[in-house]
Amino acid sequence: MLGIYIHVPFCAKICDYCDFRVMPANTRLFEEYTNLLEREILTFSEAHPNALSQARTLYLGGGTPSILPSGCLERIFAALENCGVRVRELDEVSMEFNPESCTGEIVETALACGVRRFSLGLQTFSQELLDRIGRRHTVERGFEALNLLTSFTQAKVSADLMFDLPGQTVDSFLSDVDRLSDFPLGHLSFYGLNVGERTRLGGRVSRGEENIDDSLYEPMYLGGVEILEKKGFVRYEVSNFAKSGDESIHNMNYWNRGEYIGFGPGAHSFFDGLRFCAPEIYPRWRDYVKADSPVASLTYDELDADDIMTERVWLSLRQRSGLDLKALDSEGIIFSPEGYKSWVDKGFVTVENGVLKLVDRGWIFMDSIVTDVLNSVAL
Ligand code: SF4
Repeated sequence: MLGIYIHVPFCAKICDYCDFRVMPANTRLFEEYTNLLEREILTFSEAHPNALSQARTLYLGGGTPSILPSGCLERIFAALENCGVRVRELDEVSMEFNPESCTGEIVETALACGVRRFSLGLQTFSQELLDRIGRRHTVERGFEALNLLTSFTQAKVSADLMFDLPGQTVDSFLSDVDRLSDFPLGHLSFYGLNVGERTRLGGRVSRGEENIDDSLYEPMYLGGVEILEKKGFVRYEVSNFAKSGDESIHNMNYWNRGEYIGFGPGAHSFFDGLRFCAPEIYPRWRDYVKADSPVASLTYDELDADDIMTERVWLSLRQRSGLDLKALDSEGIIFSPEGYKSWVDKGFVTVENGVLKLVDRGWIFMDSIVTDVLNSVAL
């Protein structure tokens, strides 16, 4: 399956923990960015005439796609349509929203363009925590955005929370999960905070001004899972929960090693068996697009057979569907059960019908389990 990803690099304010390819919104750049994106899409489609019409999903992420003016959003969709993407026939069209830029106008425009899945970044319902991690929006604005998005029945809605934030208690996080899951959502995600060294928050942590209590990770994660499962959500990936039929098709394609084409600064692609990435710094991406996207400016991630197997193990074990040992066996890749026996004995991993899956507290130890599974390949 082929997916299309559009990266919108602008945010109203850079959050203190942000480690993504983003920049503070400069409204003077919106038109230029849209012009460049149109050109990048057109250049790609001229080089690969039938590729974009094969796409099944479209995802606008960032950054903050909802920060774009309606006219820019309409032009991006028109550019895709002009290059063969039949937006209304796609299996899924998603767009990310942040509360501070989630207005009735941009939501209506998104729907008119063909968006049928909204993804809202809320992170927490605690104002103190929002301030502490440098988020732009208020709790009140978060609820307003949630109410607005869920009032449109034409689209599915997903929302994100974060946990293991500095100063966050287990009760506070579980109360967030409980409140959020009472809204009419079919999909919910929560992610443990990962403190990058180069971020403002990372600086405060390294200077001892903030502290992340790692011991709270497990009770928060497992407690959140328990609440969602009681409310009918299924964990189909380590951080993603859905009611039946509301799983993210676009993201599942990533985890299943399907192909995707990314447009925008730093957007990644996996196409024709190659993983590559456009220049990440905006001025370099601008030069790259103006030069008609020369292949020499892309950064390639060369994958050998070992890299591919490593990807397959990581991407499979993070999903509920697990790692199909039988399928790998038929390709001559054999894992020695001794390598992961200790996890089976602890009840953190099961092997049923030749499929290895994380269960119970195994999800907490995913990284260690994956490492042991990879080390168990019989050479
Ligand atoms: S909204 Fe997301 S992408 Fe934008 S600065 Fe905050 S964490 Fe980064």
